[in-house]
Amino acid sequence: MPDFSSIGIDIGGTKISAAVVKNNEIVSDLKVLNTSNSADAILKQILEVTSSLTNSNDVSSLGIATAGAVNKDNSKVMGSTGNLPDGYSDIDFKNEIEKKFKLPTLLENDANAAAYAEYKTGNGIGKSNVIVITLGTGVGGGIIIDGKLMRGTSGAGAECGHIIMSFDRKRKCTCGTWDCWEAYASGTGYAITANEMAANITEDKRTSLLLNKKTGSITTYDIIDGLKVNDKFAIQVHNTWEFHVLLGLVSLTNIFDPDCFILSGGMADFINYDKIQKELSEMTIISKPQVLPAKAKNNAGIIGAGILAALKYGK
Ligand SMILES: [Zn+2]
Repeated sequence: MPDFSSIGIDIGGTKISAAVVKNNEIVSDLKVLNTSNSADAILKQILEVTSSLTNSNDVSSLGIATAGAVNKDNSKVMGSTGNLPDGYSDIDFKNEIEKKFKLPTLLENDANAAAYAEYKTGNGIGKSNVIVITLGTGVGGGIIIDGKLMRGTSGAGAECGHIIMSFDRKRKCTCGTWDCWEAYASGTGYAITANEMAANITEDKRTSLLLNKKTGSITTYDIIDGLKVNDKFAIQVHNTWEFHVLLGLVSLTNIFDPDCFILSGGMADFINYDKIQKELSEMTIISKPQVLPAKAKNNAGIIGAGILAALKYGK
């Protein structure tokens, strides 16, 4: 790909970050703002940050990584925008930016943009089929097949967190249905599992962690702290969670036969990569994808959005 400069902007529920991206790297100051609590104010923030970056840099396109599904031609957010304010999905970022700055603009789902950055600049370099799974408060996904971001018919594809894991209707998912992978493999799911398991432990089997904590109030941090002192209960919870993560990877392996999985997000730091790699190999027949931690951790959304804009509008 020839040299390019583009602006990448990542709009999240708590902060907006933006920078100029060139040759797959951030080459300007990083601008970080607290996300405003109204849709109109967010648009104003985006126009201001674009203005300040275009004033001091020569750029030819702009990419926005955003929460929510983005339509097939990357022009509009379609909904499910998490903790962003009402009216957010009605903002016409593309039209507003193109009108004001004459910069061709692309929107992409934030998990997809971050996955593309990992594919281009992180542990996905040199591979063609890469699945990036974000293990955080929820579970996000980005799928690159034969070097292309898989977006599906409407643009809403790669929502790996919503693979249904059971027939039992035990845990309600954020998407409105039941027993999605996200309800188990996320940090939120991890804490639910801990409290469910604690409720089933008899008095005599209580470890120090359980003696200090009331069932129902155990957090992910409590378990992680318990792991550090080899608390038996914490280890059981953690192993159960890793098994939940593994099952989703097995399903995705059988469907996509990827070169690798890359795990990102806060919870990915707690994965035992050697163990999950071995167990995944044991549960799949032909396809043997690698399981790797993410490398492009910081600002992956900005970098991915910038690269995707440059690829689409490259000049
Ligand atoms: Zn779901």
